[in-house]
Amino acid sequence: MIKAHKIRLHPTPEQANYFARAAGTSRFVWNWALAEWNRHYEAGEKPTALKLKKQFNEIRREQFPWTWEVTKNASDQPFLDLGKAFTAFFEGKARRPRFKSKKRSKASFYLANDQFELGDRRIWIPKLGWVNLAENLRFKGKVTGARITKTADWWFVSLTVEIPEELTGKRKGAVGIDVGLNRLATLSTGEGFENQKFLATALKKLRQANKRLHRRKLGSKNREKARRQVARLHYRITCMRDDVLHKMTTRIADCYGIIGVEDLNLKGLLKNRRLARSFSDASLGKLLTLLTNKVEQHGGQVIRVGRFFPSSKTCHRCGWKWEDMQLSDRVFLCQNATCAYYQFPQDRDHNAGLCILSEALRLIGLVDQVVSGTGSDADVNLTADAG
Ligand SMILES: [Zn+2]
Repeated sequence: MIKAHKIRLHPTPEQANYFARAAGTSRFVWNWALAEWNRHYEAGEKPTALKLKKQFNEIRREQFPWTWEVTKNASDQPFLDLGKAFTAFFEGKARRPRFKSKKRSKASFYLANDQFELGDRRIWIPKLGWVNLAENLRFKGKVTGARITKTADWWFVSLTVEIPEELTGKRKGAVGIDVGLNRLATLSTGEGFENQKFLATALKKLRQANKRLHRRKLGSKNREKARRQVARLHYRITCMRDDVLHKMTTRIADCYGIIGVEDLNLKGLLKNRRLARSFSDASLGKLLTLLTNKVEQHGGQVIRVGRFFPSSKTCHRCGWKWEDMQLSDRVFLCQNATCAYYQFPQDRDHNAGLCILSEALRLIGLVDQVVSGTGSDADVNLTADAG
């Protein structure tokens, strides 16, 4: 299992200056590589991260000798990052890589695991020395890399750690969760959690109560009565919803170690009436908070899948996209004739849950590209068990 721990750094002013320069170098190289990528691409060539890096190294001594002043990763890693970013873009999983700006973009640079060493509440970085850490690394395992970032005025290091299975306690699988309005949540196992029946009834009552409230005269006793009734209904709906959310998140945290979930419910935002929508949005926020807390207490990890990832429109098996899929389409039909699921009716939310699982496993590097045509259910299960 791969985990990340973000720790506040306490650099001296000289060290903070080094971080800023390393992040600046990283940003410069990214922008240089992206500009070259675009130029090659427009010229009809096929740019790759490796080719661009070679091209950079040919002119580096002459044109950018200052890039050697900081860790070599500051100028190596952007090529790899850009390559990955374009892969994700071409697969429709992310937007096109953009230039990084000094103001808008987060200052950051990467350190491979041979480029630093951890001591007791300190980290050693080449050409810089020891930098104090606010705390020690929480996890035991192989440290695979680090990224140093600046948030507000503070510097942080995010350390990724590969934890051997025996340290993660119970062997737990991975699961993807699709959150929606028709069903509160659908797991990639096909299991569903409903909340719609009570919510629909309660919302109907709430709408009636709201209407009554607005018919009452302002300042009257009856208006106050109606107002309190609306407030009570709101509270009851919240309680019922929280009850479902608690039961569901406890069960998921008990059963699974890696949980993929969308970080924004775009589907919910598209179509529904305001009242239902506000409850669904609130549910999603609460669901993510509860899930993250409980899963982390159990030693698991929640992976949020980007909102650009089209989980509902993508066949979980082959990656074929149903571009003009409507919200009313409840059954997903893959139209890729070579796919094992070709025209096989899949429940829309179940398929989305499976896509989210694949994407989550890809994001933490456990699987390269499950939704790519080469992946299969067997791949997902194998990796899930290993997690
Ligand atoms: Zn398919």
